[in-house]
Formats: sequence, C-alpha cells, structure tokens
Amino acid sequence: MWLRQGRLTKGDTQAMDERVDGSGSTPGPKRDLVVREIQCKSILTKSGIEGVDYAINPYVGCAHGCAYCYAVFMKRFTGHSEEWGTFVDVKVNAAQVLSRQLRRAKPGNITFGTVTDAYHPLEAEYGVTRECLEVLLDHHFPVSILTKSDLVLRDLDLIKKLKDSEVAFTINTLDEEVRRRFEPGASPIAARLQALRSLSDAGIPTWAFCGPVLPSITDDESSLDALFAELKVAGAGHVLVDSLNLRGAVRGRLNKVLKEHYPDLVEVYRDLSANRLPYHQALMDRTRRIAERHHLPWRGVDLGPG
Ligand code: SF4
Repeated sequence: MWLRQGRLTKGDTQAMDERVDGSGSTPGPKRDLVVREIQCKSILTKSGIEGVDYAINPYVGCAHGCAYCYAVFMKRFTGHSEEWGTFVDVKVNAAQVLSRQLRRAKPGNITFGTVTDAYHPLEAEYGVTRECLEVLLDHHFPVSILTKSDLVLRDLDLIKKLKDSEVAFTINTLDEEVRRRFEPGASPIAARLQALRSLSDAGIPTWAFCGPVLPSITDDESSLDALFAELKVAGAGHVLVDSLNLRGAVRGRLNKVLKEHYPDLVEVYRDLSANRLPYHQALMDRTRRIAERHHLPWRGVDLGPG
C-alpha cells in the first residue's frame, strides 16, 4: 500500500522529548523516534469498520505508543520491525493524493485515525492532517476524528467549517499514572478533557471512547463513575465502551507493562483473554448502568455471540 522509498530527512533519529516540547501539550516518554517522509499512493481507504465508509491515516505508526494498541499489526504490512511507538512514516503527499481520490470517490463518511492517531505529536510539525482537512472543506464527506491529543484544537477553525464533523477522544481513565504507563506518548487526561470541553463549547458534536477498560485497573465502579461524571461535565454527547482484546502481538506488549507495574495481574489477564465474553458482557451492563446515572447516552461494542 505504501511506497518504501521515503528518505530520512529529519535527523533520522530524534529524541521524542524534543518534538513534544515543541507542541507544548504532550509529555512524551524518554525514547527515540525514527521519522521518515514517504510518498503514499492512496490515502482514502475503504474501511472494514462497521459504520465507517473510509479511513484516512496520515501516518504509518503512532508516537503515542499505547501498550494495548491493536494497530501494531500494521508493522507486518509496512516493513517495520521496530518497536511500536518508536517509528513514524509521514505521508507528506497525503493532501494531494486525497484531493485526487475525492474527485472519484462515492459519498461516504470518513474517520481520521483508525490505525494511527492523526494528532500525535509529529502532526504539530508536519500538519499533514490539517492539509487533509483543508482539502475536505471543498467536499461533503462527513468527518469523524478520534484522538488522544489536545492538538486537535489547533484545527478548530477548519473543523467548524466542515459541513458535518464530530470529534471523539479516547479517555478510559482519570488516573494519570495509569495513562502514563499505558499511553506513554499521548496527551494527559486533563488536557483531553479540556479539549473535549472546548470543542463542545464551540458547537462541535463530541463523544468519548472509553476503551479499552482495563480489568482490575480501571474497571471498578467508583473509577468509572468518576470518569463518566467528568465526561458529562466536559460535554461528551455519548460514550462508547469497549473491553480489552488481548489478541496477537498486543498480548506481549501489554504483558511487559503488567509485569513491571501489576505483576499480580499477569495471570488474571491471561485467564480473561481466554474467556473474554462474560467479562465483556458484565462490563457492558455495569457501564450502561453508571452512564444512566449520569444521563450520559451509552453505547457498547458488540462482540456478538462469541
Ligand atoms: S493513539 Fe491509537 S493508534 Fe496511536 S498507539 Fe495509541 S491506540 Fe495505537
């Protein structure tokens, strides 16, 4: 899908902290980030996600480096062997390609960030997502943005002008220590809540993706109650809740964090991964009840009959 002809132009390996300091919003981890600029052939891709017609992913890889990230499978298709969260390919020609594709595309909704975060820290420097939004101003494709970054506020001027748009923030805990352990490169929770509030105050439809809820870490009644209360106050139109899916490469990455910070839970998670459905259904029941308490419209991810 992507040309692997990108040249190394940004000093090749740069300290993540340097970039993060530039954006002023995200306290990144101490690790190196390898950045490549690449030319893409296609940027508007048909999505297999229910309810999503097209996806736009302006980057390969994601500097947020979440421990539970399912998008780690992208490494297989893009020739990357580095650890997830330590490389990013920037699709520097995305806006031009999008403009060309939109001229021929059937109408449909577009989601930014299905296998990357379109507002991870490099976006502050490259602005590829912003360029794509500028192109979309001339078309009527409903746009949905899902992010863990308050950098999205930079583009409020464009988001307001889009004919049909919404912004969702992934927020699955209020515990900043948990956030740092599982989402090391993403914006602090307080910054996301503030951004959510600013967008909803500006009249942009917003909602929150509360997932994955982490068993025995963020799934207790009082934590979820406090989270939903904050989301309601911040103006989230609804919440979408999902449980953890410990499949494939996700398990190994997540286990590293568990072993370091929650060694007692390694076995608990192993058991849960073999029998997710009952846990998932109990979580859906619990979160639906808590959301009702806060008059917060609730949706849950449907796993089907298993
Ligand atoms: S922000 Fe999303 S795409 Fe990026 S690492 Fe985290 S889960 Fe993966």
